[in-house]
Amino acid sequence: MKIVDAHSHAYDYSKNELEKLEKDFIIISVSEDYSTSKKSIELSKIYRNIIPVVGIHPWIPHRINVKDELRKIEELIKRTSIKIIGEIGLDKTRFRKTLDVQLKVFEELLKTAADYDLAVNIHSAGTAGKIFQLLLKYDIKKAYFHWYTGSIPLMKQIESVGYFIGINVVFEDSKNNFEAAKNVNLRNVLFESDGPYKTRGIRLSTFMLKNTIEKFAELRGIKPEKAIKISYKNLMRYLK
Ligand SMILES: [Zn+2]
Repeated sequence: MKIVDAHSHAYDYSKNELEKLEKDFIIISVSEDYSTSKKSIELSKIYRNIIPVVGIHPWIPHRINVKDELRKIEELIKRTSIKIIGEIGLDKTRFRKTLDVQLKVFEELLKTAADYDLAVNIHSAGTAGKIFQLLLKYDIKKAYFHWYTGSIPLMKQIESVGYFIGINVVFEDSKNNFEAAKNVNLRNVLFESDGPYKTRGIRLSTFMLKNTIEKFAELRGIKPEKAIKISYKNLMRYLK
C-alpha cells in the first residue's frame, strides 16, 4: 500500500526525486500562490501520485495583489478538477503584523471552498482555535490541520467533527506535535513531510515518512503496516 504524504510542496523537489517518489508515495502537493498552484497542477499531469492543491499561504498576502491573486486561484478551481484548497490559514507566530490581510484572504478562500464543496489543507501556527471556529462558521466539511501544534483538548474538538490532524516527519522533535501523536484518534490521523523544507538543519522530505510511521506505530503500540493502512483510508475519506 502506498504511503500518504498529506502536506508537501512537491514543486520544490528535483525531477530525480519526483521520479523516485512516484512508486511508493501519494503526495498532496499544497501551493503558496497562483504561480506554485499552477506548478502543482502541471506536476499532477506528469506524476500520477501527485494530488494538486491550490491556495495562498498566510505568509504571502502582504506581498501580493490580493484581489487579483484570489480571482486567478478561483479561475484555476473552475477550470480544473481541484479537490482541495491549501496551504491556507493564519500565522500568528511569524507574521503577527499581517494578520488582518491574512484573515481577509483566508475567509475569501473558505467561502470558495464552501461554494465548490472542497476540502482545505490548513496552516494554523498559533491560531488553531480561531481557525477551527472559522471552519465551522463557513460550514467546511473536510479539513486537515497540517503539522498540528495546538492543545490536546482543542484537538479532541477538531476530531469530533471529523477533521484530520497532521503528524510531521519530525514530530519527535516538535513538543506539541509529539503530544498530538500520542493522543490523536487513529481515525483522524494523517502523516506529512512539509518537504522539501529545511528546519533546524534538517531537510524534511517525503522519503522520511517510512521511518516516521514506524516511530509513530511504536509509540501507539500498533504495527507500521496498520498505520500506513489507516492513513490511506483517512486520505480516502478526506478526498471523498
Ligand atoms: Zn507547508
